[in-house]
Amino acid sequence: MTTIAVCPGSFDPVTYGHLDIITRGAKVFDKVIVAVLHNRNKEPLFSIEERVHLLKEVTKHIENVEIDSFNGLLVDYVQKQKATTIIRGLRAVSDFEYEMQAASINRKLNSEVETFFMMTNNQYSYLSSSIVKEVAKYNAPVSDLVPDIVEAALQTKYSAKS
Ligand code: ADP
Repeated sequence: MTTIAVCPGSFDPVTYGHLDIITRGAKVFDKVIVAVLHNRNKEPLFSIEERVHLLKEVTKHIENVEIDSFNGLLVDYVQKQKATTIIRGLRAVSDFEYEMQAASINRKLNSEVETFFMMTNNQYSYLSSSIVKEVAKYNAPVSDLVPDIVEAALQTKYSAKS
């Protein structure tokens, strides 16, 4: 049986924290589909296409990782992809409450879909896309936080904005 997992998120933009979860997830599952969520509640810095492009570039060395985007209910998307599992990363206790709610509702919606939590690498426990954008906005270096191609994309975005 092929095990397929979906790793959903905003990835606005992808960070080393995401990449760590994706890389480790790809060792556990036969295939990991990283799925960028069309989230109408958040005003993103990068378009869906830009986020997908950056994710493709930074994961191209991992054979069993695919990048996609989706609209609508996550469990429906998971089923459509013939996946059985949702991968989520946990950074801090603060992530826990939301993640527990999301996992419970997803189980209620489709009991065949399991949520698989991975603890952050300690090195990245403070790292989020929001923090990266906050730092990059003021032209401070983010090379320890994101791959080079993402750092360059952030610089381009913020220089176009100023
Ligand atoms: P969302 O808006 O759905 O939380 P994100 O792009 O912020 O989307 O995160 C996608 C997934 O990656 C989530 O499961 C999140 O917990 C995880 N993640 C983000 N940053 C880190 C990190 N530094 N360490 C571990 N997991 C992380």
